[in-house]
Amino acid sequence: MKAAVWYGKRDLRVEEREEKSLKNGEVKVRVGWAGICGSDLHEYEEGPVFMPSEEKDDLTGEQTPLTMGHEFAGVVEEVGSDVKNIKVGDRVAINPTLTHGNKHEREDIYDGFSFIGLHGDGGFTKYANVPEANAYLLPESMTLQDGALVEPVAVAVQAVKEADMKFGDTVAVFGAGPIGLATVLAAKAAGATRVVALDLSEKRLEKAKEMGATEIINSGNTDPVATIRELEKDGVDVAFEVAGVEPTFKQAIDVTKARGTMAIVSIFAKSIEWNPMQLTGSGVKMTSTIAYSPTTFQQTIDLMGSGQLQARGIVTDEIQLDDIVEKGFEALSNDKSQAKILVELSGEK
Ligand SMILES: [Zn+2]
Repeated sequence: MKAAVWYGKRDLRVEEREEKSLKNGEVKVRVGWAGICGSDLHEYEEGPVFMPSEEKDDLTGEQTPLTMGHEFAGVVEEVGSDVKNIKVGDRVAINPTLTHGNKHEREDIYDGFSFIGLHGDGGFTKYANVPEANAYLLPESMTLQDGALVEPVAVAVQAVKEADMKFGDTVAVFGAGPIGLATVLAAKAAGATRVVALDLSEKRLEKAKEMGATEIINSGNTDPVATIRELEKDGVDVAFEVAGVEPTFKQAIDVTKARGTMAIVSIFAKSIEWNPMQLTGSGVKMTSTIAYSPTTFQQTIDLMGSGQLQARGIVTDEIQLDDIVEKGFEALSNDKSQAKILVELSGEK
């Protein structure tokens, strides 16, 4: 079967791979659609970041070259022995997170985690084998394309929880890439009255408006801090940092009110220079988030299924597996108006 396989930095190959046999407790998923993630792009542009290239990963037991893709949904083709709750024909979204499972889910991920599609073979292919516990049933109201968006939207839902955002809060979202757009959506769904989105790309800002942003600011043209302070004299209740660079990190604190929260959602590829007195002097609290708990993943499906979170607007292109390098990774590298690109595998609804 054809797969997009990561060999090294700027070396992603679409090639034939052996179909794997099912292990105990696994289900074989016929992949319908799979999204390209910012972390996939990191692996392509500057990897290995997470990909286990030197030795086998602890949790997956696998090593590069690996099939990428961790945001995917499909139809169950086959179930292994000991599979109890999933049957052939079920439509499922994959939670790609693998953990040791020794702790409560609130702490579990901080005890070490691996990702299906980064630390082990993933979904940019015809069939993906995953543990039963990682396959979540999709309601009839959700398409497999929606299913491929659950993972990035779950990141945003977890971010809103970690930031303790409440009904009536005012919010700023720095960065309108896929996760930033999903954060706008999640903040609105969670009761934010004002959501200001900031980015350098007009196209992405337009998308942010579609997702529910009440104001958009192009940080390339205007001073983001002054502009937000004009809207909210005391600052916003919650600022989400979803850009991952030094200027937005500092600005996100600067626009937050005393006792408000700045939440780091992005992955910082590089260290920054920063003086913690910026917190001491402002009374802003800072928190961070990574991925999502199993509960949050299920809640995200429930919220998407009921229509409370409508995420399809973050998709900017749909492409074929054969075109994944040029129209997928290269497009995301070079064209900052792109947000979420979905790869069509079986193409089933
Ligand atoms: Zn992702």
